[in-house]
Amino acid sequence: MKNKNLDMSKDEFISVGKKLINWSAHYLENIESFPVLPNVKPGEIKNKLPQSPPESAEDFESIISDLDKIILPGITHWQHPNFMAYFASTASGPGILADLISSTFNSNGMIWKTSPSLTELEQTVLIWYRKILGFPENFKGLVYDTASVSSLHAIAAARENLNLGIREKGMSSIPKLRLYCSEHAHSSIDKACLTLGLGLDGIKKIPVNENFEMITEELEKAIQEDKSNGIIPMCVVATIGTTSTTSVDPVDKISEICQRENIWLHVDAAYAGVTSMLPEMKKYFSGIENADSIVSNPHKWLFVPIDFSVLFIRKHEVLKKAFSLVPEYLKTNEDSEVENYMDYGIQLGRRFRALKLWFVIRYFGVEGLRERIREHIKIAHQFAEWIDKSESFERLAPTPFSTVCFRYKPKHIKDENILNQINEELINEINNTGKLFLSHTKLNGKFTIRLVVSGIRQEERHVKEAFKLIDGISKQINY
Ligand SMILES: *Cc1c(COP(=O)(O)O)cnc(C)c1O
Repeated sequence: MKNKNLDMSKDEFISVGKKLINWSAHYLENIESFPVLPNVKPGEIKNKLPQSPPESAEDFESIISDLDKIILPGITHWQHPNFMAYFASTASGPGILADLISSTFNSNGMIWKTSPSLTELEQTVLIWYRKILGFPENFKGLVYDTASVSSLHAIAAARENLNLGIREKGMSSIPKLRLYCSEHAHSSIDKACLTLGLGLDGIKKIPVNENFEMITEELEKAIQEDKSNGIIPMCVVATIGTTSTTSVDPVDKISEICQRENIWLHVDAAYAGVTSMLPEMKKYFSGIENADSIVSNPHKWLFVPIDFSVLFIRKHEVLKKAFSLVPEYLKTNEDSEVENYMDYGIQLGRRFRALKLWFVIRYFGVEGLRERIREHIKIAHQFAEWIDKSESFERLAPTPFSTVCFRYKPKHIKDENILNQINEELINEINNTGKLFLSHTKLNGKFTIRLVVSGIRQEERHVKEAFKLIDGISKQINY
């Protein structure tokens, strides 16, 4: 029996720690030798794992050996530069190491007193992040795990902002509330409405134009119609960088409507928010200063390991009003002078996440981050150009950021059903190679392939190879 009742010894911690740091470094060094998508069937990994826990202690050698033999073969390699599906998210060296320190402290930032550095670093690093993105000073930043949870809190604040006494009385005795978003808004907005008691009927999906942007006239119409039916317009969610095509809703026009009608404006910029650090991308953020809340995920495109989402909110006191509940055992002498993060949401416990963003920003510098994001956009635009120039492919949406929507379209095929079948087969063939991972969406009934450049290890050569592979496989498809 080793170290009865005690944790791992210092010597063992160092030797295993070195092994695992080496393991991680080796993994990242050789990431391109793995198939991006694992070749496993459902249940295959589970079947290799013992169904009962070990009664007696095991040594670390055997744990690491199973990591290699059982776990690694079932990993989808998000760190792989040929992971170009969804919104590729990658973790950088400094981000990974920050996670180690965070776990080493194992601080819980429920309140200021339970780790002053956790609270004060988070406050500071979010002021940095706000400055990097160029958002106005009156936005306060808060860290949540995911954009889904950030948006949930923003929409809860929008609901509290109506001053209907929902905090006390619940939803049962009030008129129907409405949230508006485009047909292309992320499903997390629907989930927030499920959670907050608005229900799916509490959402009005506003149609989009040919560029997949919310039509503001339709928004206005919907609001007036609701008002005349006694429904209370509660919140508009505009998206900068929608999930399917990365289209940008006209935030400035939407914000005028929201101000006039006194409706909370939440902006979902989970993926594209980071591009606000580039002067040439500011055009996509016009009107953002009039939003009530904005979400941006450093874990998506800023090389911070998952999870790390930032909610910027102007009326943070409303959010606090919605959620603050202080039990006796959590009252402290400093309450009037400090921020207690438990007041701003559902959860009490809070991981020391700010270290990740702090390490990443300091290690790369703002200039280094700008260069990387700018390079991703450049590479993606190159790919879009190859698609546009090719006789057998077509682009299906504008490419404002680093996501390209396209399909294979041989000249002589006009039938939409056949085109859909061919493209579905094409993406399956591509993903089966293990050399590239792409995802898809449907746009106006058209099966659409998406390619995203946002990973820290992605270079021009990867996108070149990707195009070659896609082009090559498309030529082998029979129809
Ligand atoms: C990715 C994404 C989300 C969801 O992000 P999570 O952090 O996984 O909850 C929401 N909205 C948009 C626009 C996104 O791109």
